[in-house]
Amino acid sequence: MACPDCDSKVSLRQAFLQRVLTFARVGRNFFRNLFDPPVLTLTYHRVNTLQTDPQLLAVTPEHFRAQLKFLKKRFPIVRFEDDWSGVREASVAITFDDGYADNVLAALPILEELEVPAIFFVCAGAVGTHHEFWWDEVGRIVMGEWTFLKRFDLNDGRFRRTWSTETIEERCKLYGEILDEMKKVDASRRDSWLRQLRQWAGTGEEVREVNRAMTVGELERLGQSRWATVGAHTITHTPLSSLPIAEQRKEIEGSKKQLEVWLGREVPVFSYPFGQQGDYTQETVELCRQAGFVKAAANFPGQAHRWTDPYQIPRLVVRNWPLDIFKKHLRRFWIV
Ligand SMILES: [Zn+2]
Repeated sequence: MACPDCDSKVSLRQAFLQRVLTFARVGRNFFRNLFDPPVLTLTYHRVNTLQTDPQLLAVTPEHFRAQLKFLKKRFPIVRFEDDWSGVREASVAITFDDGYADNVLAALPILEELEVPAIFFVCAGAVGTHHEFWWDEVGRIVMGEWTFLKRFDLNDGRFRRTWSTETIEERCKLYGEILDEMKKVDASRRDSWLRQLRQWAGTGEEVREVNRAMTVGELERLGQSRWATVGAHTITHTPLSSLPIAEQRKEIEGSKKQLEVWLGREVPVFSYPFGQQGDYTQETVELCRQAGFVKAAANFPGQAHRWTDPYQIPRLVVRNWPLDIFKKHLRRFWIV
């Protein structure tokens, strides 16, 4: 995970290579679309206006509304959980990951008003708890205005590392690097790292209202809306490839069961935490199939065709783009 505040400059060579790659992908998509109409699945995380958003997860309500209006006018919007074999023209599916409260408080009213369906992949272990998602808590602590010690020593007996933390640049480096390391460990070790971070900064645990996960009541509200479906997104939001098979099964089946208890209905689809190809394995895919999910969402850009593995549906992450930039990103898929 990178800290956008300290994002290093992309070299000219990198920029050139990126353009060549984009051009090649656009060409590939164009030819594929001639043979089979694609479904482009979009990933949102939050609809909110945030003071700071280091992970770039939030789209403002204004941009979200404009994006949906454009999509509704231009494409059929299909439900992620439906069978797409009957799709006859380029279509779009809307998804949300994680289960922030603003999904219900800000996104759902806009979806209902515009009559656009969306699926919400909810991290079951976060629902109704008084914890922030771990990446938000790391941001609050490391980028906060505390009286910092000059260095942070992390030691959990199995992992030991020291970061200098005197300057904002050094804390940005700690922020990016510790989030990357936290992705590799299980929830209990992550909790112990968070405790060490709190102790280092001299702060307790806080839940900022703006960053909280949805409550059980808010989840039920999603379940009652005809424009929303709920999908599973594990219990602890750990990259599944980092866990033994038995733990993966608990995360996959456990989240499905827990959400089904709350909602009183089947939860048919799943989304892999982080969702890049290295964040899950073929065993993970098989576990999703065995758990009874009919489809699973990954998190690398692409569009789904009839030959796409339904357990690895690619998705495009949407950032807080004004409409012209949003359209530019969609153009990579030759459907606008
Ligand atoms: Zn997620």
